[in-house]
Amino acid sequence: MNLLDGKVALITGASSGIGEATALALSTEGALVAAGARRVDRLESLARKAPGEMLTLDLDVTDQSSVRAAVAATVGRFGALDILVNNAGLMLAGPLLGADVSEWTRMVDTNLLGSMYTVHAALPYLLEKKGTVVQVSSTSGRIASAGNGVYSATKFGITAFAESLRQEVTAQGVRVVVVEPGFVATELSGHISDPAMRAAAQEMASSMRTLRPGDIAEAVVYAITQPAHVAVNEILIRPTDQIR
Ligand code: NDP
Repeated sequence: MNLLDGKVALITGASSGIGEATALALSTEGALVAAGARRVDRLESLARKAPGEMLTLDLDVTDQSSVRAAVAATVGRFGALDILVNNAGLMLAGPLLGADVSEWTRMVDTNLLGSMYTVHAALPYLLEKKGTVVQVSSTSGRIASAGNGVYSATKFGITAFAESLRQEVTAQGVRVVVVEPGFVATELSGHISDPAMRAAAQEMASSMRTLRPGDIAEAVVYAITQPAHVAVNEILIRPTDQIR
């Protein structure tokens, strides 16, 4: 008997890093997993590794019709939706002065609006099953710092949206969890276009024992497997070596 036998989970951004590890962890616990992202080839190799049934979804969270189609495909295949993990995100760090504002648009569209679209599309099904929404935020959703203003704004926004959602649905049995990781070794900082910021992120990574994607996946499993009367609303999890 596994902790999530028969539960249906949809995970965004499952093609790498935290999303990939979480998809595997949920599958290991017996969940039927729908794994969404744009790099479908990576999802297909993930599905081959997964111990349970895994549906791969070509998903762009910035596109409302793609999000609605992913939710419909999940429910069509597995008959319900119990768990939504809003994980897709990108961090294009850099100074505000002279920034390429198209990077701001991409972050807001993906991290903030993308997670709102998935909640909008999934909520009727989550209400039916008294399900759980996991919103992957960040320590940057608690503490802003120079060079990370827009990314932080999206993550603070996720927390605000999650608290509003929690108040709207908790009496109907839907639980909302915000997970706030510190530095995790993934591809995330590899996408930063500003060379100085990218180098600073790499230097930070090599200066500490970073978290592994699986550390966050375990926190997600913990939060979503509590008894129905227990709502773990927020988990802040940093590497021991991370000071700020
Ligand atoms: P990765 O870069 O490894 O993963 C990001 C994932 O998001 C990929 O699967 C990517 O898939 C997906 N993604 C990006 N854009 C879209 C889109 N438009 N539609 C669908 N999926 C998309 O980084 P992490 O695993 O580190 O990041 C996962 C989450 O964790 C993010 O929200 C990030 O902000 C958060 N986080 C990460 C921390 C870290 O230190 N690594 C710390 C705190 C929070 P694809 O490109 O195939 O679409």
